[in-house]
Amino acid sequence: MKTVQVKDKTFSVSISEAEILRRVHEVAAQIDKDLAGERPLLLSVLNGSFMFASDLIRGIETPCEISFVRMASYSGTTSTGRVKQLLGLNEDIEGRTVVIVEDIIDSGLTMKELIAILQAKHPKEIRIAALLVKPGNLKVELDIPYCCFEIPNDFIVGYGLDYDGYGRNLRDIYTVVE
Ligand code: 5GP
Ligand code: MG
Repeated sequence: MKTVQVKDKTFSVSISEAEILRRVHEVAAQIDKDLAGERPLLLSVLNGSFMFASDLIRGIETPCEISFVRMASYSGTTSTGRVKQLLGLNEDIEGRTVVIVEDIIDSGLTMKELIAILQAKHPKEIRIAALLVKPGNLKVELDIPYCCFEIPNDFIVGYGLDYDGYGRNLRDIYTVVE
């Protein structure tokens, strides 16, 4: 079993690079089929989704744009607690088809907040493309039309995802060894 050490933890490979690329290209083909002629705007959520976004967009043939955004914790408090803000969106998305490109959906709370922020800008439609989803941890209802892999509730690294800043450069996806 192929394992790697990232900082103080050991990880073993769970999805190989070849499997990832095969599945990402399938999802890209589905996006092509569904959104042909829509001129979608892909919104890649940094940092974790950069590698996924790079492979996904190269599989898409229909004309599209891409922009890179970031969800940041808002400094200051409100009655509802910690609020997130969206950084880096320079495009006007009104009337546009937006595809959110996210590395992993765990509780789904980050995605829910991002969707609310984007909805307020009146896009035509928002669709979610997620490399990984942990269905066992989802706390909100989300429609995820472009999910590459459903995984158990274990911590993973690689292919853009990090453990404390490291491991993003790994070509395969790895699961922590308990
Ligand atoms: P959510 O709001 O869906 O609970 O959290 C999503 C975020 O948590 C992801 O964008 C990612 O930053 C982080 N996350 C959740 N699970 C994992 C995991 O297994 N590995 C890594 N590296 N990040 C994770
Ligand atoms: Mg993320």
